[in-house]
Amino acid sequence: MLNCLVVDDSKVIRKVARHILESLNLKVDEAADGREALEMCDAKLPDVVLLDWNMPVMSGLDFLKELSRRDLPQPPKVIFCTTENGVDHIRAAVDAGADEYVMKPFDRDTLESKLQIVGIL
Ligand SMILES: [Mg+2]
Repeated sequence: MLNCLVVDDSKVIRKVARHILESLNLKVDEAADGREALEMCDAKLPDVVLLDWNMPVMSGLDFLKELSRRDLPQPPKVIFCTTENGVDHIRAAVDAGADEYVMKPFDRDTLESKLQIVGIL
């Protein structure tokens, strides 16, 4: 079973994402900020990360930069989450190593197609 790490400071978003991802047969772990996500990745690398941009402690962008600094042989796929107001974040996220992005609020179909694009489903 493939493993998805959901990184978002919103408990509600994490809950919604978990519900969708579990319905797609993924095992889900949650982190509330980039630092916590990084610690979880260091302990056990997920197959895919669903990553929020704005978070306290460590942002999604800083998480991406730290992750790429690790030079992992098989880095997790990263789907970056942004809002419609944050479209300029997309280029920065892709430059920092994100594989795909999704607009919030996302639904099951959108998330499923993004997971297919990055080769997880
Ligand atoms: Mg946030």
